[in-house]
Amino acid sequence: MDGPYISHYLQQHTHSLLIKSSSFLLTISPLPLSLSLPLVFVFLQKLAKMVAKKPRIVIIGAGMAGLTAANLLYKATRSKDLFELCVVEGGTRIGGRIHTSEFGGDRIEMGATWIHGIGGSPVHKIAQEIQALHSEQPWECMDGSSQDPVTIAEGGLELDPSLVDTISSLYRKMMDFAQGKLIQANDEVDYYRIATKALQNCKRNGCLAELSIGSFLRQALDAYWALTIEGEDDKESGNWSRKLLEEAIYAMNENTERTYTSADDLLNLDFNAESEYRQFPDEEITIAKGYLSIIESLASVLPAGVIQLGRKVKKIEWKPQGLRSSEIDNGCDSKPVKLHLEDGSTMSADHVIVTVSLGVLKAAIREDSGMFSPPLPSFKAEAISKLGFGVVNKLFLQLDHQTHDRQSENSETFPFLQMVFHRPDSELRHRKIPWWMRRTASVFPIYNNSSVLLSWFAGEEALELECLKDDEIVKGVSATISSFLSDSQPGKQANTHKCSNGHVNSEETYKALGKKPSIRSVLKSQWGTDPLFMGSYSYVAVGSSGNDFDSMAEPLPKSSSSNCACAAAAPPPPLQILFAGEATHRTHYSTTHGAYFSGIREANRVLQHYQCAGFSDALHH
Ligand SMILES: Cc1cc2nc3c(=O)[nH]c(=O)nc-3n(C[C@H](O)[C@H](O)[C@H](O)COP(=O)(O)OP(=O)(O)OC[C@H]3O[C@@H](n4cnc5c(N)ncnc54)[C@H](O)[C@@H]3O)c2cc1C
Repeated sequence: MDGPYISHYLQQHTHSLLIKSSSFLLTISPLPLSLSLPLVFVFLQKLAKMVAKKPRIVIIGAGMAGLTAANLLYKATRSKDLFELCVVEGGTRIGGRIHTSEFGGDRIEMGATWIHGIGGSPVHKIAQEIQALHSEQPWECMDGSSQDPVTIAEGGLELDPSLVDTISSLYRKMMDFAQGKLIQANDEVDYYRIATKALQNCKRNGCLAELSIGSFLRQALDAYWALTIEGEDDKESGNWSRKLLEEAIYAMNENTERTYTSADDLLNLDFNAESEYRQFPDEEITIAKGYLSIIESLASVLPAGVIQLGRKVKKIEWKPQGLRSSEIDNGCDSKPVKLHLEDGSTMSADHVIVTVSLGVLKAAIREDSGMFSPPLPSFKAEAISKLGFGVVNKLFLQLDHQTHDRQSENSETFPFLQMVFHRPDSELRHRKIPWWMRRTASVFPIYNNSSVLLSWFAGEEALELECLKDDEIVKGVSATISSFLSDSQPGKQANTHKCSNGHVNSEETYKALGKKPSIRSVLKSQWGTDPLFMGSYSYVAVGSSGNDFDSMAEPLPKSSSSNCACAAAAPPPPLQILFAGEATHRTHYSTTHGAYFSGIREANRVLQHYQCAGFSDALHH
């Protein structure tokens, strides 16, 4: 055992040891030496046991954050055997929101999909080291997304890419502005002026402190129109005026943003926090051998038995007031944290690292939950309730081989299809398209020429998807795709001329886009209703801020707290409950690397507490 550790342990427990020693000496002082010596021996044995007892660290959750913390704690101390380490996972698999699976013979991701920028990403570094970036098996590599998408407006009007690019560029520039990345430039369109005008209008309309991305984006579109089409004729393209088309293309981009951020409504996504979010530079890629290979690599260093599956924690008892002397006397109960598991067992621990999702924590702070006993302090509960945690789901669709022949040279490839829908109040809406498809921006093959298509859903549509039966999904998606790809839809007659904004899906275009697809089977994620997740990832909701992520990360009991009751024998043991997970990272929340960094942070916090050397840039093997 390390010198610093012993001295630290003695420092922490001096008070209780003194109480024990003095009461013991008082007890034996009247006894003759021959009787008291054996008692002294027993006492010393007990004392030695107390000092030798290793601190027990329990990590709740075997996702990216939990396994990163376990990996670092184990590697940093294995030669010294300093801790008892254990990871309890409520589910039957490791990975959490990383869940690689298979569908139609292809490797797919039900959860985390992308490495968001390979420059400096720790996930990319691990993927390279374990050679996970190449695979024989086809995977969700999304090489089709780099090709030109085909954008079609409801009713069958295929849009001119230059129109789509103009509005999509406007959208991206406005998001760049919100993220503090837009600088004044000599662009053809003065984006900077549009953005500042939009911000001024927002200011005029209300409080900037509560500004949402949704309000800013809408003001920006108005400012764009004021600059570009004021006084111009609003040209018609079939059923669409130019303004309506531009608005709908803009809405398509907003719908994609909903899946990026998980905010159901962009009116609830905080504007001011957007500039704090950090992304790594360089390209975004997926992992050929599957995201799970990263998790497996982190877990591979841990001895058998450290990760315990099917061990859902029901209740966490902790001691913000400190331990009483009777509790210190009482062997293993002297550990300040007690976990109650769903299988009826209990575990005691010196430190618990909680990595469960923000959705699970939101459920845990409801009055009737009793997950934390005593309940979490108000600063923590407020951060949990204020931050946003939305639902994003992925839907995979396998095309029938009759409509998709991968081997055939003449096989008609399904395009990267972007869908531009009519406004909610439009009478031209196609009645067979279900409401839960109407805020889905695109449907596309998971790689060039794959028979597996993918669509992302957010918010209430994502939740609805979880309730639908497979045949209802097939029916709704088929109706939607057909109405976009086939020209036999209402509105066709009005669209039979070439126009400035696009052209009607002609017979040739229809062939190039592929026949009306027949969907053989579907696979969907269900992150919203799974009690181990209760959502997908976190965002800064209006009314919260980056400070709330810092509060999320703060360990308990709070170090500055002076809440030690007089009856307690010692000050509360520090670092009883630590928090890791994507929703505890101020600048990289919502990502796998955010979860990774949070695991490193909390492992280092424990290591520093015991004065062990931490490895902040932890190598994973
Ligand atoms: C659909 C989807 C797409 C995504 N796409 C990307 C992407 O492209 N790129 C990216 O970087 N990130 C993406 N993410 C986000 C990323 O997956 C997460 O940020 C990250 O995996 C979170 O890791 P974590 O360790 O914080 O939490 P989790 O992975 O949620 O781990 C927590 C673990 O705790 C367990 N648990 C919960 N409650 C209990 C309990 N009571 N007792 C015991 N165990 C419990 C859970 O089962 C889980 O295994 C995506 C997520 C989703 C859902």
